[in-house]
Amino acid sequence: MTNDGIAGKTALVTGGSRGIGREISLLLGKAGAKVAVNYVNDEQAALAVQTQITNAGGEAIAVQGDVSETKQVDSMLGETEAALGSVDILVCNAGIGERGLADLTPYEAWQRIMKVNVDGVYLPVMAVKDGMKARGDGRIVCIASIAGLRPRPSNVTYATSKAAVIAFVRNVSGVLAPEVRINTIAPGLIETDMIQNMDPARRAAMIDGTPLERIGQPEEIAEMTMFLLSDRASYTTGQTLVASGGRVTVP
Ligand code: NAP
Repeated sequence: MTNDGIAGKTALVTGGSRGIGREISLLLGKAGAKVAVNYVNDEQAALAVQTQITNAGGEAIAVQGDVSETKQVDSMLGETEAALGSVDILVCNAGIGERGLADLTPYEAWQRIMKVNVDGVYLPVMAVKDGMKARGDGRIVCIASIAGLRPRPSNVTYATSKAAVIAFVRNVSGVLAPEVRINTIAPGLIETDMIQNMDPARRAAMIDGTPLERIGQPEEIAEMTMFLLSDRASYTTGQTLVASGGRVTVP
């Protein structure tokens, strides 16, 4: 499989240290991109991804910063560009989930989730867009969720934040075109730390409600991300690709 248009470019992966972001960082490194692996708390995890890429002959740095804070986004971009060159690939992957089932999220938690999941996409996109447009070739993928596509009486705040990401990408794609392509991936349940503490009965019910009868792997989302970032998706912008084992089709 080729990863056309990716080798030699500088990529910033938010939340690139664990879970889905980790696999995206590793595939980008393998495809010859210079990778900035962003994290907010877990430096060791980010350094481990950096080391894995450099040990394989690639180029990578770990870069700390909260995606929901303007100054931290600016400094992580500055740090990346100083070390690896101008960012022409951005993956807005960092996000936080919502614990609890039927209860509505208290306002404080609502604000935190919206800030990380929505501002945390808006701010990095705003930070890179002018440079990408000026250089004439930018590629952005944002990780949303099927929660943003179909209603369930749970995760109200998380679902709202992911629907906002999908709408943001769809609307901003026209502003960023023709120099920059931006797309969204909406995963179903994926085996990462985010779902580590899920109630076993709920987990079983979710697998039961998934036509492919299993939870997805982070590598499967990373592969789809590589497709959207590559020249193979050169005529695609403003779209949402779903990878949910068919779960999104189940009422
Ligand atoms: P994860 O395993 O919990 O990893 C989250 C990553 O995001 C970590 O690298 C974490 O860094 C980083 N992060 C969290 N808050 C951040 C912040 N404010 N600023 C910068 N980085 C931050 O999550 P995941 O399951 O891979 O999820 C990745 C994305 O996929 C999220 O947007 C999530 O909503 C979405 N998604 C996940 C699933 C699923 O079932 N797992 C399904 C659909 C969509 P630290 O390690 O430093 O905290």
